[in-house]
Amino acid sequence: MKLPPVEYEAPTTVAEAVGLLAEHLDEASVLAGGQSLIPLLAMRLARPAVLIDINGIDELHGVSAADGWMTVGAMTREYVAEESGAIGDAVPLLAAALPLIGHEAIRSRGTIGGSLAHADPAAELPTVARALDAEFVVRGPSGERVVPAAEWFEGYLTTSRRPDELLTEVRFPTAGPGTGTSFQEVARRHGDFAIVGLAASLTLSQGAISDARLAFAGMSDVPVRAADAEDLLIGETPSAELFEEAARRATGDLDPPADLHGSSDYRKKVAAALVRRGLREAADCANYRANEGQ
Ligand SMILES: Cc1cc2nc3c(=O)[nH]c(=O)nc-3n(C[C@H](O)[C@H](O)[C@H](O)COP(=O)(O)OP(=O)(O)OC[C@H]3O[C@@H](n4cnc5c(N)ncnc54)[C@H](O)[C@@H]3O)c2cc1C
Repeated sequence: MKLPPVEYEAPTTVAEAVGLLAEHLDEASVLAGGQSLIPLLAMRLARPAVLIDINGIDELHGVSAADGWMTVGAMTREYVAEESGAIGDAVPLLAAALPLIGHEAIRSRGTIGGSLAHADPAAELPTVARALDAEFVVRGPSGERVVPAAEWFEGYLTTSRRPDELLTEVRFPTAGPGTGTSFQEVARRHGDFAIVGLAASLTLSQGAISDARLAFAGMSDVPVRAADAEDLLIGETPSAELFEEAARRATGDLDPPADLHGSSDYRKKVAAALVRRGLREAADCANYRANEGQ
């Protein structure tokens, strides 16, 4: 399908892009990799008057680590992040999730900022960001604002970004010593969006769990943290029984949506299986890293 007629702007600096957003507000859409936006335009599900193409803004690209945080520029392509050794070493949960996004062709254009601004509740990166308490840096006419992941995702394809703000970078905390992670998902075919996904992270200190993080994709209109299960895990020693109880607590109160891919009950059963599987893998990985002194 052809795109509807739309005005096109191609700023080369963040300041210019923010000026255009402030001028056009809800009439404008930011164009990053286009992997979600272009299909929406073609299907007439989005009808912006102006496209603000941010592909030419060099300052939005790149990955850097400092003070316990990995900063990823919004226009960093998904495949660039996937191939980054720095991300693989310091944010293994993000590294595990990236290859599960669509296919190589999608990841070669799709961007980290695009996926997180789009906020599809079945997508991998929002789930990782929610599990790790990532920080979202946005720039608007009155300056910069840092939004915690818990306040970023507001609803289906909806974030707390204001119409005159550009997402410029996302900060992920780097994994501490003894941290093991796992990203699990069930999809109809490889490359499809997850029916249910799980981001899991466990930190072991002298054999006991000192930090636990679990977040689901596909279980609500936003990525969901399993706080009760996390509380249960902290202070305990990993075991099959503990992980079984964590799976029960993580899914007990959820009321996931039903669609043609699966009923609500099916999603809950899959989610419980993913918690058991994810915690097992995260614990094995944490043990390995603890033994290696990482
Ligand atoms: C066939 C196919 C399969 C896919 N499978 C998956 C999958 O399995 N998992 C998955 O997670 N994704 C999947 N995707 C989506 C893919 O990850 C997209 O790349 C991603 O969702 C959007 O990134 P983008 O850079 O292409 O953003 P765009 O499509 O350009 O933009 C998406 C939205 O975010 C806004 N936006 C983008 N950047 C910014 C910014 N810096 N500041 C403010 N707003 C911004 C845009 O205005 C738009 O509303 C798939 C896509 C396709 C076409």
